Amino acid sequence: MRRQRNVKIVATLGPASESYEMIRALHEAGADVFRLNMSHGTHDEIRQKHRIIRQVEKDLDSPIAILADLQGPKLRVGAFANEAEELEEGAAFRLDLDPAPGDATRVCLPHPEIFEALEPGAGLLVNDGKIRLKVETCGSDFADCIVVTGGTISNRKGVNVPDVVLPLAALSEKDRDDLEFACQLGVDWLALSFVQRARDVFEARALADGRAAILSKIEKPAAVEDFDAILDASDGIMVARGDLGVELPVSAVPPIQKRLVRKCRAAAKPVIVATQMLESMIESPMPTRAEVSDVATAIYEGTDAIMLSAESAAGQYPVEAVSTMDQVAVQVEADPTYTQIIAASRTAQGSSVADAMVAAAREIAEKTEIKAICCFTQSGTTALLTARERPGVPIIAMTSLIGTARRLCLSWGCNCVMTPELERFKSAVVNAARAARAGGFATETDQIVVTAGVPFNVPGTTNILRVAPCDERLIYNTDPG
Ligand code: PGA
Ligand code: MN
Repeated sequence: MRRQRNVKIVATLGPASESYEMIRALHEAGADVFRLNMSHGTHDEIRQKHRIIRQVEKDLDSPIAILADLQGPKLRVGAFANEAEELEEGAAFRLDLDPAPGDATRVCLPHPEIFEALEPGAGLLVNDGKIRLKVETCGSDFADCIVVTGGTISNRKGVNVPDVVLPLAALSEKDRDDLEFACQLGVDWLALSFVQRARDVFEARALADGRAAILSKIEKPAAVEDFDAILDASDGIMVARGDLGVELPVSAVPPIQKRLVRKCRAAAKPVIVATQMLESMIESPMPTRAEVSDVATAIYEGTDAIMLSAESAAGQYPVEAVSTMDQVAVQVEADPTYTQIIAASRTAQGSSVADAMVAAAREIAEKTEIKAICCFTQSGTTALLTARERPGVPIIAMTSLIGTARRLCLSWGCNCVMTPELERFKSAVVNAARAARAGGFATETDQIVVTAGVPFNVPGTTNILRVAPCDERLIYNTDPG
């Protein structure tokens, strides 16, 4: 499905977006990637959504990426006898391991590892940071706290512990179970929540064993500190502003977003900016000006993808939210200032042949009337390097591997097209010209740049760049070999 923009849109699916009609409408409106949240819904419900996405993909003949988001070690308090209690500022409140229902003085926090790691003075945040507690004294099975900011605490509210690197396994029992389920179902990306260190990523990668690419959600201060190692270990990144803004002051989030987006581009790995992008559209058909500006800012920063959470999963206007993102993206990318910013933030390339080839492809495309860059890619690497260049013409990523095509749906500018397995470069050029014409990127009288690695099917060998006509007769007439 041809888009009029380069930045990609991720839409989270939920109760508001379960039917075939809705999922198809979201894809047609602009959603390139669907996120399945493993924190909600049974495996049967996830399987059902997965089946529908694959059906839409087949019916529209357009690769779609599926991202399964694992819950991760999310901490929650237990239940209360009265369901909810009001905590007053200055009051004492105890967290412990006693499963008995909580009251205004205590509640269970069923995570023994936390008590091992807590220290006096550490902060605990409950219910998206609305309630703040400070640890006064603690032991192996309790923490006596003072309420710093009061509020309503209720059954199974989430708890964030920003000040301590928690001795928690990156993947809970449930996560391991969900990971295996998602891999068997066939998802393209696995998102890891609350990653704290690169080791967490290695663990998930070993379990996924090549069946899905790994995306690390940056939502803990520890992950921000150890970002370079986490990026190195991951295939993609999410700037998870929701929990990040709970664990750190919200004002710390925008500079982190900018820095992470730049680093991901330099590493040629896709990055998603996520959470509250069009929050008001959960209930309103119109976004606020500030939200539109936030979406635009992420695009100006050069992010690969922008994400909808509750807006598409549980809101009243899922399709309108996707269309809004699409329209903002089209406007921003048409702005000469966008082109300038993107060019100015291009980092020096590496010294490999592949790096030089993608830079050359961009330069040729920018200095001439070339209509598209078609890159043949099996692992996806050449397409990722081409996307890092952020060229001014469309990228057509050609591959015979559906998994590669789907994964690249998350990456800036990649229009993914399936090809048969190829042996000769000449047939690759013919296929590229056909794809460019069929996708409406070029006509018979236009020219394209084609890059490929020969022999085919050996990853990381991009070594041919050809400027080719889109007219098939001319391809044969002018073929050098
Ligand atoms: P979540 O992750 O929606 O799974 O919490 C994103 C975030 O925290 O921003
Ligand atoms: Mn989160």
